[in-house]
Amino acid sequence: MTTTADGSRQASQHNPLDDARSQLAEAAQILGFEPGLIDMLAVPRREVTVSIPLRRDDGTIEVLTGHRVQHNLSRGPAKGGLRFSPDVDLDEVRALAMWMTWKCALLDVPYGGAKGGITIDPRLYSRAELERVTRRYTSEIMPLIGPAKDIPAPDIGTDEEVMAWMMDTFSVAAGHTVLGVVTGKPASLGGSAGRPSATSRGVVHVSLAALRHVGLDPAACTAAVQGFGKVGRGAARFLAEAGVRVLAVSDQYGGVAHEDGLDVAALEAHVDETGSVVGFAGGHPVDGEDILTADVDLLVPAAVEGVLHAGNAGLVRARVVVEGANGPTTQEADAVLAERGVTVVPDILANAGGVVVSYFEWVQANQAYWWSQEEVEERLAQRMTSAWTDVMNEAAERGVTLRTAATCLAVRRVAEAHRLRGLYP
Ligand code: NAD
Repeated sequence: MTTTADGSRQASQHNPLDDARSQLAEAAQILGFEPGLIDMLAVPRREVTVSIPLRRDDGTIEVLTGHRVQHNLSRGPAKGGLRFSPDVDLDEVRALAMWMTWKCALLDVPYGGAKGGITIDPRLYSRAELERVTRRYTSEIMPLIGPAKDIPAPDIGTDEEVMAWMMDTFSVAAGHTVLGVVTGKPASLGGSAGRPSATSRGVVHVSLAALRHVGLDPAACTAAVQGFGKVGRGAARFLAEAGVRVLAVSDQYGGVAHEDGLDVAALEAHVDETGSVVGFAGGHPVDGEDILTADVDLLVPAAVEGVLHAGNAGLVRARVVVEGANGPTTQEADAVLAERGVTVVPDILANAGGVVVSYFEWVQANQAYWWSQEEVEERLAQRMTSAWTDVMNEAAERGVTLRTAATCLAVRRVAEAHRLRGLYP
């Protein structure tokens, strides 16, 4: 990834911030907002870029770059994941932070939106090095975060252990244990039951609802899933449990397919052993790109941004696309899919299960009282179903796509918070 001096993306590259801003502009136009309010919603409230000097295991020193962007704080503390990826740049983090604001508002959890990222390929570093990177980054952004200010969570390339290191670093500085500073922690450190699977469960709740909505019986449906990490893997598992045949999956190394449906449990065991879906004996190899145009009813992109673009949107054969990833569909692809009658369930609805259960985790940590897995899952299902219904109604009322409807609902809620709070001074 090539970036400009201020960390923004080169104009020639696909920039998720363009997608995020044009979605906001469309919603604001439909809602009839004045330009000043749109300007306030289009720019992050705060952003910080930090240098992270790292002593590698061999004694050499390397300097990494990290960002934390708080897009909006009008409905409560900022909330959003921390990403470790070689592709991270400031514009990507800005876009992801804006989507977090809409997601929290859409699901009606009392947060604003934020995102963090470190430009690093975690596969090239030892766990001890990643721990040092995490602790130094946490220490650099310490003034910005806290249970009442900004609450990070896992995203691409990070996991519950990274959250434990962040929580510990913050707590050591505070002089006491602060469980509510991050979510997605290990269960033994105040993590919530049901958090690791929450995003995937949410993806599957809305996938089943969307398939029924277009007149398909999920038990007779087929699916393809791109990405086999925290989100894609659980999505494949829960889809299979719901009777959907998962015909093809991929990760960054390649894809695997079986025309009768993959044995997802066996595939998970293979991934645990080898680190990739590639080489799975219960299927045949396919090109990772071909997953997106597989002949299936449901497509779940659950990897990275911008994978559905003008060049392949016309080839998508699925009736329903459910965005497990953030920003997998460019604005050009969105228009093509809408034109072709493909139902796209937008990221801010489809993958919101994670932030909903993160909210539950924060509530539990702040009260030091933990709920059962059943309670968490029941409340998650209620939230997802209710948001799905809200978005469907808004789309029907306005005659717009699900993405536009979801963005309108969310932006209206955030704008209402701005209006009620007033402009200071
Ligand atoms: P992860 O790091 O656990 O997994 C990412 C997966 O995508 C890996 O299997 C990787 O091999 C694969 N991948 C990367 N590039 C790919 C490519 N070009 N083609 C195919 N596969 C590729 O990350 P995750 O937490 O599962 O996040 C995936 C997406 O879901 C991201 O967009 C993230 O922002 C979004 N998301 C995650 C959560 C969460 O709770 N983890 C919540 C909401 C949204």
